[in-house]
Amino acid sequence: MAQMVQTVTGAIPVSALGRTLMHEHLFIAFGGAEFDPTATMDRAAVIAEAVRRLVELRERHGVASFVDPCPIELGRDPQMMKEISERSGMQIICTTGFYFEDLGLPPYWRARSVEEIAELYIREITLGIGATGIRAGAIKVATGAPVITEQEKKFLAAACIAQKATGVPMITHTQDGVGAPEQQRLFADGGVAAHRCLIGHCCGNADPAYHRRVVDGGSYIGFDRIGILRLMPDETRADNLARLVKDGFRKQIMMSQDRHCFWLGKMQRQLSAEDQAYIAAQRAQGKWPPPYTYMFTDFMPMLHARGVTEADIAVILEENPRRLFAGEPLNG
Ligand SMILES: [Zn+2]
Repeated sequence: MAQMVQTVTGAIPVSALGRTLMHEHLFIAFGGAEFDPTATMDRAAVIAEAVRRLVELRERHGVASFVDPCPIELGRDPQMMKEISERSGMQIICTTGFYFEDLGLPPYWRARSVEEIAELYIREITLGIGATGIRAGAIKVATGAPVITEQEKKFLAAACIAQKATGVPMITHTQDGVGAPEQQRLFADGGVAAHRCLIGHCCGNADPAYHRRVVDGGSYIGFDRIGILRLMPDETRADNLARLVKDGFRKQIMMSQDRHCFWLGKMQRQLSAEDQAYIAAQRAQGKWPPPYTYMFTDFMPMLHARGVTEADIAVILEENPRRLFAGEPLNG
């Protein structure tokens, strides 16, 4: 079993992870934003704001570790993550791995073989990303909807090879609340144990039977878009999370928000006039992007009202991330 986790500032013992958010972002740039002359960024200001937000998260809510599974082609910037980690005192873990076909997968890598993609992933985990010396601590896998494409299956198969070669966990993206059972089957086909996989964004599906399938399959389940109300009301997320806890599955739940601190240029979809006005108003009050503390200030009370205890939260935010990184079996 793994004793150490790679953070952007070096290896730490898994026991030092502490309270961990498993799926957040610092900075996102969709491919092509770099060609938009209206998309500008003050790097020093972005770093300062990220540091301010992470210090708040650490000091007010005791979060010690922050996993940023930014796909390679979505502006992943390990050097900036390292600087933010050093200045904020937050342990940050980055990942290797590409996004899903609709919004990612650069043509150069679509043309590569499974083995070539796996070689890149293994190199980023064992040697480092580019020439930075910063090593990825997990593998990001993403699939789209309504079905998983052939290209996505190829990248997922490469991730399986890299997982088995390195022992780091998988953190996934599912789209539109579908694809989790299919991902689990593909991981099993690729020889990756279910308990090494966090199947992400499952809270994008309102059906408890869907969540039950994922936990019965032995993986971790991501309720990791808390606060993204455009995709699901938080009341539904809280109902479903509390149900899983009541049914005995607290050892498999991961809570996070999939937030970001800075987004280069426009969003990946066209915003309506209402959306733009809402964002402008929030930004004017310093509330956009929404803070990482939302989960603690707004969502936890909803969970407590549904019978979820502090002991349950400690398992979800501390024990489960440690167990996933260590590779401990669920009933070990
Ligand atoms: Zn994400």
